[in-house]
Amino acid sequence: MTAAPAIMWFRRDLRLADNPALHAAADRGPVLPVFVLDPALIRPSGLARMAFLYRTLRVLDGQLRERGGALTVRAGNPVDEIARLCVELGAETVHVSADFGPCGATRDNAVERRLDEREIPLVRSGSPYAVAPGRIRNSSGHPYQVFTPFYRAWRQHGWRGPAPAPNADTRWLTNDGDSIPDDPAGTDMSLPDAGEPAAWVAWELFCRDRLARYPQDRNHPATGGTSHLSAHLKFGTIHPRTLLARLGPDDDAFARQLAWREFYAAVLHFWPDSARHDFQSAMARQPGAAGAPAKQHFSAWCAGRTGYPLVDAGMRQLVAAGWMHNRVRMVVASFLVKDLHIEWTRGARFFMQHLVDGDLANNQHGWQWTAGTGTDAAPYYRILNPVTQSHRFDPDGHFIRRWVPELKDLPAPEIHAPWDRSGGPPINYPGPIVDHQAER
Ligand code: FAD
Repeated sequence: MTAAPAIMWFRRDLRLADNPALHAAADRGPVLPVFVLDPALIRPSGLARMAFLYRTLRVLDGQLRERGGALTVRAGNPVDEIARLCVELGAETVHVSADFGPCGATRDNAVERRLDEREIPLVRSGSPYAVAPGRIRNSSGHPYQVFTPFYRAWRQHGWRGPAPAPNADTRWLTNDGDSIPDDPAGTDMSLPDAGEPAAWVAWELFCRDRLARYPQDRNHPATGGTSHLSAHLKFGTIHPRTLLARLGPDDDAFARQLAWREFYAAVLHFWPDSARHDFQSAMARQPGAAGAPAKQHFSAWCAGRTGYPLVDAGMRQLVAAGWMHNRVRMVVASFLVKDLHIEWTRGARFFMQHLVDGDLANNQHGWQWTAGTGTDAAPYYRILNPVTQSHRFDPDGHFIRRWVPELKDLPAPEIHAPWDRSGGPPINYPGPIVDHQAER
């Protein structure tokens, strides 16, 4: 007797290697690989993220076709689509990586209830994290609210080794479906190459060329010293456990950054409201700037025309490349909240529209960290000076020149505060829209 089919419902795990859910599905019987284009997922995503997702799906489909299968894509509400596929196929199990985000967890519970009606289990194996959110707690059983003790406990807890790939004799099933959409119009930005093989290439190159210098280079946006793996981690074309398995004792700085991702996912899991509201409720009474000046300031910030070169370079990189360097994310976020006095939620929303790696946990908590309203936040009075940060982290001005061509002829000492040079900023570049010293 042949085993009943199993559905592998891909979501944020768009890879074949080290995928415990896929492994579990393949262990059950022939596998139908599925992705559901959920309007609820598509609505808040910007062009960059949608283009990257569609490209990733095309690569995954190609990988499956090489093995005799294909990705079945269905557009619609996952509750209906997954249930319908089970009926069409006679599937007896649906396999997923557990989703710990507030929307994903709610969606999965709804799918699970619908499948329950037919006694089909939704089997959760693994998650997008080395340690599933919710596992790491302090000795009293409470979740951590501060990164450093979380980090210690996370390291001590440890994680499993990478899961084996499905056997070569896995039987893949195909079914009717919708096609993977073309890239949305307007996605002419240069995004990272999509898909699992590209993630591996990026990782190998990073290990070869940049990992050893990561602690020194990671804060300097002009060096390209970071991994650029964030979009791959977001969509699961590579798993953090795969990365951690390769790190040695000298690579703690990189493991620490991966741990920030795990920490924020855990915080969001325990406090789902922190995606929309100040984690520290005492800060919730701070009103943001409003009215016409705030509107103009926000537009200038979005357009990269604040007159502060490092801020403007970062914002232009965000819009043009769908990505921004971490140090610069901190600087532009601090500028919006501390200099322009605009609520972090507005900046976070703009980031989510443009970032190819836009991730609710990392983004909302990265913003709150900078705003001083989040977990072990820099206190509200610790303010990043956009000029000092520019001198420190882009001393030669290479990053600024790349993204703000109006300043390309300015020498390094002048480029950080062009209003101070004799004659002021170049004619086509604005003066500072606010005075940092006054606003701080
Ligand atoms: P690397 O330095 O190579 O780090 C490796 C990985 O570790 C990253 O890919 C990421 O998954 C994780 N990581 C690194 N730094 C952080 C951090 N501070 N917090 C959480 N995880 C981290 N990251 C996102 O993935 N999505 C977001 O939407 C996002 N929004 C942010 C908003 C603000 C205001 C700030 C300050 C940070 C935000 N970050 C976000 C975190 C960080 O900026 C990016 O993860 C990083 O710049 C991605 O580049 P990389 O892959 O080269 O990082």
